[in-house]
Amino acid sequence: MNIDTLAVHLGREIDPQTSAVTPPINLATTFQRTSDGTFPEGRDVYTRASNPNRNALERTVAALEGGSVGIAFGSGMAAANALLMALSSGDHILLPDDLYHGVRYSALEVFSRWGLQVSFVDMTHAENIANALRPNTKLVWVETPSNPLLKITDIRRAAELAHQAGALCVCDNTWATPILCRPLELGCDIVWHSTTKYFGGHSDVLGGIIVAPDPEHDFIKRVRQYQMLGGGVPSPFDCWLLSRSIPTMPHRVRIATASAHQVARYLNDHPKVSVVHYPALASHPGHAIAKTQMSDWGAMLSFEVKGGRDAALGITGAVKVFTHATSLGGVESLLEHRSSGEGPVTRTPPGLLRVSIGLESADDLIADLDQALAMI
Ligand SMILES: *Cc1c(COP(=O)(O)O)cnc(C)c1O
Repeated sequence: MNIDTLAVHLGREIDPQTSAVTPPINLATTFQRTSDGTFPEGRDVYTRASNPNRNALERTVAALEGGSVGIAFGSGMAAANALLMALSSGDHILLPDDLYHGVRYSALEVFSRWGLQVSFVDMTHAENIANALRPNTKLVWVETPSNPLLKITDIRRAAELAHQAGALCVCDNTWATPILCRPLELGCDIVWHSTTKYFGGHSDVLGGIIVAPDPEHDFIKRVRQYQMLGGGVPSPFDCWLLSRSIPTMPHRVRIATASAHQVARYLNDHPKVSVVHYPALASHPGHAIAKTQMSDWGAMLSFEVKGGRDAALGITGAVKVFTHATSLGGVESLLEHRSSGEGPVTRTPPGLLRVSIGLESADDLIADLDQALAMI
């Protein structure tokens, strides 16, 4: 079935007890045993290990990504850390130089102390990946389009190179979503999301999820074990909220993407804008590769204003339809001065504003940017 149909029906089966069309929220932390002390086949035991709402969410997202196992967490960072926890001391991982800053920070500040070896490379050129691989490289971590510079990594090449070195290839698919990009079909072993973003879609729930083709793969078994032992699981209500938002996700992503095209073209022609980072633009260095692996360009973009930090902050103070806030993927358009949000470890240009296009009219968004740019 088409992904739009799957998004509506998966994990939202009619409740057999009440015939309710939408699923109930199962708040129970524990479930009844049979008199011999065992649990009926396939039943839940304790909510940290599994729960009906979480199971439904995990099955749904796994299917949307073309995988067979989903492992949900209480935030995207909890999911990212679970992938790092499944490695061992002395292992080496490759991370992209432009990367969600929380992952960079966690790898450097937390996992380096546990003996993980970490290298950062510009993955827009596959030879940089090839050159940085070591005999103990266990993971090649791809984020495409990347945060906040919208760099594009060739997923097929990254996966091939990882496999030649005996490593796994992991893709953070938060920005593209399975609506626009399917990393498992391109050869990745694992795909993960901050479901706080497009899956949730309404800026009201935190979550993260890891998806893979084979639940019996050793690495995935360790991630599943860590989900239970680490305990950073989402609440049943959080899972229910995500399941409520998934049916509209394909449409939210497509509408926001169409508006992002228009906003990017407007900004690209503006004399006060020095560069627009959006892969749809033929001038974007990743345009050709993005075209081979994404069905559309997505609703995230960033741009740099002439005049650097002060000019960029001037825009954040002048916008009226956009909100100056971190995060992305919600119904409301956000704009963020990223380098001040990332703190002292930032590598982001000071004049850069990151933009998450929401569901407002593109005309209103462009008019808002136009009046804000006129103020600086
Ligand atoms: C937001 C985000 C994360 C972190 O997820 P949280 O849900 O905030 O913990 C990771 N990767 C990307 C690309 C993100 O946008």
